[in-house]
Amino acid sequence: MSRPGQLPPLMETRKVLAAARPPAGEGPPTREVLRGLRELRPPVSVLVGVALMALMPLGLLVLSLWLLAATWTGPDGVFLSLVKTVLFSGTLFLLSALSWRGVKRALHSGDYQQGFFVARLATVVCGVIGAFLLWYVYGDGNPQEPSMLAPFVVLAVAWLPVLPLQARAAREWPSRVLLRGGPAVRGVRELAMLLEARTHTCGRPLPVQGMTPVADSGAQGWAWNGPCPACGVGVVQVFSLRAADAADPADPWAWGRPGSAPALGGGDLLYLADRFDVLAGGDPATWSVEQLENARTLLIGSVQATGELLALVPQGKAAVPLMKRFGRPVQLVGDPEQFTRVRLEQRLGERRSRLQAVQAELVRRGQAPAALPC
Ligand SMILES: [Zn+2]
Repeated sequence: MSRPGQLPPLMETRKVLAAARPPAGEGPPTREVLRGLRELRPPVSVLVGVALMALMPLGLLVLSLWLLAATWTGPDGVFLSLVKTVLFSGTLFLLSALSWRGVKRALHSGDYQQGFFVARLATVVCGVIGAFLLWYVYGDGNPQEPSMLAPFVVLAVAWLPVLPLQARAAREWPSRVLLRGGPAVRGVRELAMLLEARTHTCGRPLPVQGMTPVADSGAQGWAWNGPCPACGVGVVQVFSLRAADAADPADPWAWGRPGSAPALGGGDLLYLADRFDVLAGGDPATWSVEQLENARTLLIGSVQATGELLALVPQGKAAVPLMKRFGRPVQLVGDPEQFTRVRLEQRLGERRSRLQAVQAELVRRGQAPAALPC
């Protein structure tokens, strides 16, 4: 057991891993990468660089399987074999999977840094081993052995992909596939909601008005490249417009075509629907015009998010499927009924009548707001 205030060895390993910046988050799925390959052929220099990058996850996988076979054909008992499997084969397999994810991102969205995760890790590990070997041979006067070259060979192979990626076509590839690196939304409205639900790490959303329209060779979209207005930390984020699902341009309030797949998951929509429903129990007759107009905008968001969430319940089913509840994490101790059709229909009715009450009050005061979009 480690004493308080002292990190156990596992934590030290995690620190080394974190320093090598492993690819964070999910994806892209292999079928997405294959679709991308069919749509836009990468330059030869990128293909060569990525093929060289793939040597690392492949090598780790082979090593993991070889260790697994050696462990279970060896003299150790079942318990020790299990421990060795988890410690050695398991760790190598996980590293291989992480590394493979980085390689796919390097190819698909031109994010080469992600593909060099194992190379960074190997630099830390082999750097220490190499320094020790240099001391062992030249400092301590021990004889050299051919196997001592291994860490230097691993380092050279790990960083070899840097060479083909220096080609002009390879340096241009990231800007040609820029928008593949981010989520695809169905329009500005969904982009605004996505930013609101998936806030920056400081907890504040990036403003949709600050997004710059951008285009790459396959799509149009938006980008944010600069400091977060709330905390000042630099942020690079891209969002592409999924044209096939995009909303009718004549209907500025629409989210997307009916039945299209939103970038927002059930977790996001539930959060947004609750967050904008801030006026439960209030009396619109006592509010100022400014308060009423603010409430109207928020309630439109709440009604639309509730409607979108309800649309995720499949025909004939009673609740939003677990698979579609992704996005902003849902509290486990939350209301167990919150994703059911019955509850959502009830909420939609309540929110719609609150919105209509606000609208009616604005009309009564002669403010004549536009017709409700929902
Ligand atoms: Zn921030």
